[in-house]
Amino acid sequence: MSDTVKFLLPEDRVPRHWYNIAADLPEPLAPVLHPGTGQPIGPDDLAPLFPMALIGQEVSAEREIEIPEPVRDVYRMWRPSPLHRARRLEAALDTPARIYYKYEGVSPAGSHKPNTSVAQAFYNAEEGTKRLSTETGAGQWGSALAMAGSLFGLEVDVYMVKVSFEQKPYRRALMETFGARCVASPSEETESGRQILAQDPQSTGSLGIAISEAVEVAAQNDDTKYSLGSVLNHVLIHQSVIGLEALEQMEMAGDYPDIAIGCAGGGSNFAGCVFPFLGRKLRGGEDIRVIATEPAACPTLTRGTYAYDFGDTAHLTPLVKMFTLGSTFVPSGIHAGGLRYHGMAPMVSHLLDLGLIEAAAFQQLDCFAAGVQFARTEGIVPAPESTHAVKAAVDEALKCKEEGVGRAILLNLSGHGHFDMQAYTDYFAGTLVDEAYDEATLTKAMDGLPGVAAE
Ligand SMILES: *Cc1c(COP(=O)(O)O)cnc(C)c1O
Repeated sequence: MSDTVKFLLPEDRVPRHWYNIAADLPEPLAPVLHPGTGQPIGPDDLAPLFPMALIGQEVSAEREIEIPEPVRDVYRMWRPSPLHRARRLEAALDTPARIYYKYEGVSPAGSHKPNTSVAQAFYNAEEGTKRLSTETGAGQWGSALAMAGSLFGLEVDVYMVKVSFEQKPYRRALMETFGARCVASPSEETESGRQILAQDPQSTGSLGIAISEAVEVAAQNDDTKYSLGSVLNHVLIHQSVIGLEALEQMEMAGDYPDIAIGCAGGGSNFAGCVFPFLGRKLRGGEDIRVIATEPAACPTLTRGTYAYDFGDTAHLTPLVKMFTLGSTFVPSGIHAGGLRYHGMAPMVSHLLDLGLIEAAAFQQLDCFAAGVQFARTEGIVPAPESTHAVKAAVDEALKCKEEGVGRAILLNLSGHGHFDMQAYTDYFAGTLVDEAYDEATLTKAMDGLPGVAAE
């Protein structure tokens, strides 16, 4: 039998609707609160930051949301993305498990992020927005939004976490090629940035700081809206195209996952891949184990607190109930830049709290080892973030071997690592280390949690 096994859908099978798991929840999400009044916020509070169409999706309880035809048309540039059976990896692990991976690295930006950036750019352009401001960690989100902005005629300003701005010049070049302006954060351009620099001129930045800068610019300019690449409900909804396609492709394979795995930074690729499967389970369908994986150096789901917190460092955002390490937490400079956020999507947090999903944390050296094994067997170099999903899948496959059980494992390979080769270079040179988990830093950041009485 051939070792190359992939499941491809024709172009006209790009989904026509996104899936919204809010329709299938056993209990609704906790409300988002106004930072000043502590009261639930309404659409008007969000209007300075987001177009109405996205605000509507943010609070929607509709199960299916129609994908506008211009968005589907851009999706067709790379969607439906392929689903592969990882036969060569299975053989190397000598496991009875059947490992499948959905590959999102085929998009123009090399990750799943254009699934939402294209939709966000479309709705903003339709409502007359001229400019989008955003933050980026490792640069994947900035390049995805820059690409989408160029397709829909929007200016894009990207506040890029300074440590990545310096470590990843090619990501910056990619954003600039798509026509975006890229600024190292903390910057002198905003009040939030200037405050941080006054306290710590050497600050290497964090996603929380960069979000403050981007939100501030949008709040102060009528023609500018803010765009977020993860965490929010509307982002998770857009990413559902991953799992909706995977459902069809698993059917083509004549199989169904016993376990579904995704890495989680803000939670969007994880949710995008697994929620359509979880939704089926919630509606009385097939059972499935779902695992969100994260770095041990930024263990939001496994060691964070479920509480109301701010999304950013300067406390400009509304309060959302989520697993958090505290909005002032600045994680160590691990290479999985996309997994360094202090918070987690409220929807993913809620499902963990309800016991409907599991979470696991891994050290970066173990993840790179799994990533290298994946590259040498499957021929794709995973993004450092994606190696956290690969590692969990390898562990589950080895467990199958021990137990002599052949389970089907689906993992979302959220992106390729072609812009992250310095991380692999450091791994091979032996200069990468497992960051010791800094309990003192975490405790300090937790002290800053806002005192909201959560019922
Ligand atoms: C941004 C990114 C992530 C983390 O973001 P999520 O919202 O948790 O998906 C993971 N993998 C890749 C390749 C990314 O670019």
